[in-house]
Amino acid sequence: METTMTFEYAPAPESRAIVTIKPKYGHFIGGKFVPGGKHFPTINPATEEVLSQIARGGKADVDAAVKAARKAYANTWSKMSGKERGKYLYRIARIMQERAREFAVLETLDNGKPIRESRDTDIPLAAAHFFYHAGWADKLEYAGLGTSPKPLGVAGQIIPWNFPLLMLAWKVAPALAAGNTVVLKPAESTPLTALLFAEVCQQAELPAGVVNIVTGDGSTGALLVNHPGIDKIAFTGSTEVGKIIARAVAPTKKSVTLELGGKAANIVFDDAPIDETVEGIVNGIFFNQGHVCCAGSRLLLQENVAEEVLHKLKNRMEKIRVGDPMDKNTDVGAINSKEQLAKIIELSAVGDSEGAERWSPACNLPSKGFWFAPTIFTGVTQAHRIAREEIFGPVLSVLTFRTPQEAIEKANNTPFGLSAGIWSEKGSRTLWASQQLRAGVIWANTFNKFDPTSPFGGYKESGWGREGGRHGLSAYLKGVSHE
Ligand code: ADP
Repeated sequence: METTMTFEYAPAPESRAIVTIKPKYGHFIGGKFVPGGKHFPTINPATEEVLSQIARGGKADVDAAVKAARKAYANTWSKMSGKERGKYLYRIARIMQERAREFAVLETLDNGKPIRESRDTDIPLAAAHFFYHAGWADKLEYAGLGTSPKPLGVAGQIIPWNFPLLMLAWKVAPALAAGNTVVLKPAESTPLTALLFAEVCQQAELPAGVVNIVTGDGSTGALLVNHPGIDKIAFTGSTEVGKIIARAVAPTKKSVTLELGGKAANIVFDDAPIDETVEGIVNGIFFNQGHVCCAGSRLLLQENVAEEVLHKLKNRMEKIRVGDPMDKNTDVGAINSKEQLAKIIELSAVGDSEGAERWSPACNLPSKGFWFAPTIFTGVTQAHRIAREEIFGPVLSVLTFRTPQEAIEKANNTPFGLSAGIWSEKGSRTLWASQQLRAGVIWANTFNKFDPTSPFGGYKESGWGREGGRHGLSAYLKGVSHE
């Protein structure tokens, strides 16, 4: 007889005492915090508690930030040797490590992601990006990017709310290493770690104006995109806004890189190691509440193992702990905003009405805040909207296939092409599949692995250009191919 033993976990809350959140923030321009005009609240999505009031940057703020960045570029940063720039980047990286716990707690409070993830993934990776790019600053001449690579100038950088500090690091570290100065706009629902990063820039005595941070919403982002004093736009966010930005910069001389949406296929062949695969499926779609552009949101199962995989997947999902993001045992935290929750609910309802079958484990969701139980839809076909559109939440669409060729055709049948996963014990099959898949990043027998040395980016509607590695560096230098 099978017996199941259930362990009750005692609460293991992380303390928030380490962070000091001011009641109100301005912008960070020319090395100083300056007051903003209008403000809006940023909240903790797990409790709906207002954390602080954030400035909504207008034209004058964006102008001032671009001016400060231009001045710092012309007078200081572009004249400094790579060796000296590298020292600042190392200093920033070390301070981020020293203040890692503070960053992790703040990220979790503002974003809703589990403290375990901000502590073990977001913050260490953000610091790693600064360390990695610090190493490049004095070696650009030897990177195969031309004998005397030159920076572009002032970069306008717009980032999303799913990995706030990490996306900042992906943008700021390569820009600075290559000798550019930046104006960064964090997402409206998660500005707090960027504002703490501004303090780190002060602490590192980074020359004034090299990094400027203007907070606000999409209207602030649009002001930055359309500002004539910007040489490059780097954007991570939705495909919809990416298209608006592409149109806006098309008639200008601005360089642009775009990291947009995805609908990644996670393909399980019948020779896959099933238990490891189940862990990979869970990590692929439920990591960070599924708020991941490269999430494995379309599971393609070979028909003869589908039943077994689904059985084990459901068993595993019963053990996922959803709840207080500040609890160190939590696996899945809060949905980042009311608006995002509404989108997830809407698309899931479309899944029901189109005839897919919904399943979630029983879980007690907190009464306050924004929550969505980990969910899978089976019986999904390629025509279903939940197989085509990005849900950006903890919702997995499951499809099946019979032959490897069919798997590839289904996997590539998408307007996106950011990432894909392959599960198989056969090396030749993995290599064959990875050559057929039209995706920028392909993981084999793992998922959602990130490293600053590895270029990341998409095909088709998933974006233009690459971030990370030598490729990412080239996107901040003149006359170097971006692909
Ligand atoms: P999401 O739908 O995931 O919130 P968005 O693409 O709307 O993603 O947001 C990503 C970032 O782009 C945020 O910082 C947001 O403020 C900014 N943004 C939104 N609209 C625009 C726009 N029209 N121009 C420039 N930036 C924008």
